Amino acid sequence: MSIASAVLDTAARHAAGRRVTVVRVRAGQLRQVVPDSLAFYIELLGRGGPCEGARLEMEVVPARLRCAPCARDWAIDVPAFRCPQCGGAEVSVLAGEELEVESIEVEQESTACTA
Ligand SMILES: [Zn+2]
Repeated sequence: MSIASAVLDTAARHAAGRRVTVVRVRAGQLRQVVPDSLAFYIELLGRGGPCEGARLEMEVVPARLRCAPCARDWAIDVPAFRCPQCGGAEVSVLAGEELEVESIEVEQESTACTA
C-alpha cells in the first residue's frame, strides 16, 4: 500500500498536471510485489487524482547476488543467500531490490478546432 502511494506520488510529479494513462513500474524480484494487489491499491488511492483510471504495467527485475570473497554473481529463483561456488555467506544484492517508476504515459492534450 505504501508502495502504491509512492508510485502515485512519483507519477503525479512527472505528469505535471496532465492525466496519466499508463504507469510503468520496475519492481525487483526480492520486493515480492504482487502485481494485482499493487494495481488494486493504485486504482483505489489514485481516485480523484491525475492517475485515476491509469493502467499499471509492471516489470519484475530478476534478483542477482554477488559473493564478496570470490566475486561470483548468480541469479536466484528462491532467495538462497549463499555462494554456489565457495559456499560463502558474504553476499550482496546486485539486482532485485529496485522499485521505481520507469515511465508514465499522459493523455495528449486535445486541441479543439475552432475554425
Ligand atoms: Zn563465493
